[in-house]
Amino acid sequence: MKAEIHPNYHDVRATCACGSTFNTRSTYKGPELRLEICSVCHPFYTGRQKLIDTEGRVDRFQKKLAATKLLQEKRAAAKPAVQ
Ligand SMILES: [Zn+2]
Repeated sequence: MKAEIHPNYHDVRATCACGSTFNTRSTYKGPELRLEICSVCHPFYTGRQKLIDTEGRVDRFQKKLAATKLLQEKRAAAKPAVQ
């Protein structure tokens, strides 16, 4: 290895938002890594369907969907019934 070009690779403690922790090695600067998702809670490993909501995107979509449905119902009610 060439000297002084490689980042420091050291032990870190990884802590996930789900509460699980594990030790790993990383070039991350600092003693602790904070994660949003890990192998304990990721749907690929759990086999359960789970929405990973980042920045409230799912919530925003649900609101948009509700508004659209309301508009469609209004339009359907305003239209005279075809006989
Ligand atoms: Zn996790």
